[in-house]
Amino acid sequence: MSASPPAAVGIDLGTTYSVVATLDADGRPVTLVNSEGDLITPSAVLFDGSLTVVGKEALKALATDAPNVALSAKRDLGERTYRQPIDGHRYPPEAIQAWILHKLQQDASRRIGPFSKVVITVPAYFDEVRRKATQDAGYMAGLEVLDIINEPTAAAVAFGFHRGYLTGGGDSLRPHKILVYDLGGGTFDVTVMEIEGGNFTTLATDGDVRLGGLDWDQRLVDLVAEEFLSRHGVDPRQDASAAGRLWRDCEDAKRTLTARAKTQIAYDFQGLPLRMEVTREKFADMTRDLLDRTRFTVNQTLQAAGLTWKDLDRVLLVGGSTRMPMVRDMLRELSGREPDSSISADEAVAHGAALHASLLLRSGEAEQHGSFRIKNVNSHSLGVVAIDRATGRPRNAVLIPRNTALPVAARRIFKTQRVNQKNILVQIVEGESASPEDCSPLGKCVVRDLPANLPAQTPIEVRFAYGENGRLQVQVRVAGSQTTLSHEIARENSLTLEQLEIWRKYIQGTSALPQESEYELADED
Ligand code: ADP
Ligand code: MG
Repeated sequence: MSASPPAAVGIDLGTTYSVVATLDADGRPVTLVNSEGDLITPSAVLFDGSLTVVGKEALKALATDAPNVALSAKRDLGERTYRQPIDGHRYPPEAIQAWILHKLQQDASRRIGPFSKVVITVPAYFDEVRRKATQDAGYMAGLEVLDIINEPTAAAVAFGFHRGYLTGGGDSLRPHKILVYDLGGGTFDVTVMEIEGGNFTTLATDGDVRLGGLDWDQRLVDLVAEEFLSRHGVDPRQDASAAGRLWRDCEDAKRTLTARAKTQIAYDFQGLPLRMEVTREKFADMTRDLLDRTRFTVNQTLQAAGLTWKDLDRVLLVGGSTRMPMVRDMLRELSGREPDSSISADEAVAHGAALHASLLLRSGEAEQHGSFRIKNVNSHSLGVVAIDRATGRPRNAVLIPRNTALPVAARRIFKTQRVNQKNILVQIVEGESASPEDCSPLGKCVVRDLPANLPAQTPIEVRFAYGENGRLQVQVRVAGSQTTLSHEIARENSLTLEQLEIWRKYIQGTSALPQESEYELADED
């Protein structure tokens, strides 16, 4: 008897909520409930002495123990440490993500048995550094990350599954152009895709990694706190736990405003009470600029895809914040049609990830429950910092412009500056600006073994290979020669292999907390 194939598991590791899905015996995606019995798990971690508690209980602890709760660490990926120390420790954000993944894995394995292979989703607009940090989080959690895929793509795959497109059913043979509008808790992503049968092709993508439901919450928090301050002379935002409780109350009020035209916010602090009524209209007014930012991005992305609203077949809503009536209203007005919320705003991303995991795990098998192909684009231009000879100033020399179909290989020739130049520094940046300081540094590659006696202006070829999953490999060579000089990228704000090992053991509970000094970043030399 052969061992049963590994379960196909997809994880939507969200800024505020995470979801795990697998496929049932009929190949249909299903969400796995966590040990609290919920379909979605808050992406919150409470540090309670040497214990960590993930999920609902961590969120509850916000009202009493806020300084020990890490929230929305996904927003800090790409930074060296989480935005504030917790109990004196500075945690890398990817380690906090790893604790969340670890809990999700433990809970899911209670239902489907042990597994380690997973697909994790990321916002389409995530840059390379954040993608790498997500893979590292998976590693530290003890998972084998089969692939990382973009959240809107995963949602579109789940949508395609429900429409029967993956098995050639429905009206699958006609190409459909859809716009996926994904407004979650922490990030906003918009992607224009074409679906033709089982082919999912991304045409353009854009977004904002710091825009989501949390920003809507904050407007309510500020409204109540300002009112409290003017009435009682104290600001509840000054006290972390009072602020934590206020945020939870306001998030709740926001949800009420989805269901009802007005809500009462009742709040007390230091024995002083406050009661405020907020209407849906007022809430829409005081957050209009946030919604406008998404409107602007949606229009830009459509333009980047070379389409107009009438070319689109559908606007697909994903992410918990698309439940807010103002979102639907805006998209109806823009597109002239009713936005589609036929797939579950909370679960679709994890479902698509599970379908993708299944495809990767079963690729050799004859019997498949429908197949599909994903074609992606890169969400940020990738370039190298080079000195412009005419002006002597550093410029961003782009090798791969944004919205290029992946995978892609690109090369560009640069020149050495001096006679007998021994070293070259290849600084890789992501971003659209011509000046490197307005772009985000991805890392650098120092080539120290150039052949002796090269004349000045010797052509140097830099090659980028950018994978389907948005991960980069770099090669540098003296043009014409066959030997690759170096391809190690020394990354900005990324953990080294040694650091990853230390965290991996700690998060799995097999070793002590790493000392601060043990996770300093390595020096470039
Ligand atoms: P993420 O993937 O970024 O964690 P989700 O897609 O899970 O986000 O959406 C979570 C966000 O959706 C939170 O900000 C939450 O407050 C918001 N949300 C969920 N339900 C509602 C609702 N009924 N009305 C308004 N906002 C909601
Ligand atoms: Mg999400």
